[in-house]
Amino acid sequence: MAAISIGRYIFLICAALILSYTSCSKSGARNSSMEDQNDGQQTAQTYRPDPVARYVIEEDTEQILDDSLGHILGDAEIPEQLSWNILRTAAQGPSFIMDLLVVLQGDPYLRVLVDKGHALPASYEPQDLVELTGGSYAVSRRGLLLRGSAALALEEMAAAAKADGVTLAASSAYRPYTYQETVYARNVRESGQETADRESARPGHSQHQLGLVVDFGSIDDSFAETKAGRWILANASGFGWSLSFPNGYEEVTGYRWESWHYRYVGRELTYFIDTYFDGIQQYALRFIYAWEKAGGLSGSP
Ligand SMILES: [Zn+2]
Repeated sequence: MAAISIGRYIFLICAALILSYTSCSKSGARNSSMEDQNDGQQTAQTYRPDPVARYVIEEDTEQILDDSLGHILGDAEIPEQLSWNILRTAAQGPSFIMDLLVVLQGDPYLRVLVDKGHALPASYEPQDLVELTGGSYAVSRRGLLLRGSAALALEEMAAAAKADGVTLAASSAYRPYTYQETVYARNVRESGQETADRESARPGHSQHQLGLVVDFGSIDDSFAETKAGRWILANASGFGWSLSFPNGYEEVTGYRWESWHYRYVGRELTYFIDTYFDGIQQYALRFIYAWEKAGGLSGSP
C-alpha cells in the first residue's frame, strides 16, 4: 500500500494514545446518574469517542486518505455502499481513522478474525479464564469459563437486563481446541460434512476458543423470540457484546443465523462495528484484518 510518512504516523499514534486514555477511563467507569435516567434504553452504555482528542489530528486527515483505504476496503470485500460511506466519512474528517486507532490500541484478541478461513493455533488457550458462577445471570451448569474481561462485561450486561426484568442465562462459553475437535467430528458423523460445516466450526475456527463468547438460553432459534433474546439483540452492543452470526448473513459469516451466540469485543469495537459496518461484526473484523495485513498507517507489513 502507499506508505504514510513516519512523522505523520508517530503523530497519529500520539493522538490515538490521548484518545485511548480518555476513552478507556470513560468506558471503564459506568455513570450511575446517567444509568438512573436510562429507563432501559442504551444511552448510559453507549460509547462515544472524545471529540477533543479527535480535533488533534484534524489537519492531517486529508493526507491519510490516499487510495490505500480504498484498497483495504476492497481486500476485505466490504460491500460497495458501506465502503463508499466509509471513504466519504474519512474524507470529511478524522473520525473514522481515530475510531479505528482506538480499536487497535485494545487487546488484539478482541478483534482477531476467527472464521472459516482464519484459525487460531491449536495451542491457543487464554490465560485468564475464570469460572462463571452466576450473579445477575444464570448458568446452565458448573464449569463454564470465560476470560476475566468478558466475565465482567457479562455481569455488567446481565445486571442491566435484570433491572429491565430480564434474566440472561449462559449456556456455553469457552471451548478448548480439543473439545471443538470432538464436537465437529460428532456433527460430521451424525449429519454429514455439509451440515456440520454450516452449523459448527472446525477445530481452531471456533470463536469459542477465544474465551470471549457466550451462547445464551436454549441455543436454538426459539431463543430469538424470548424476552432475553429480544433484550440482548437490542442492548448487547452497548456493553461491548456483538452478535456474530446475524440473520440473513450466512454468505458473509459462513454460518446460519445464531441468535444466541454473542462475542465480547469491547465497547470501542461495537461502536466501530455499529457506526461504520451496519452492525455486522464480520465486515469490521475482516476490514481490520486487511488493514493490519497491509501494515496499517506505517505501510510496513
Ligand atoms: Zn456459539
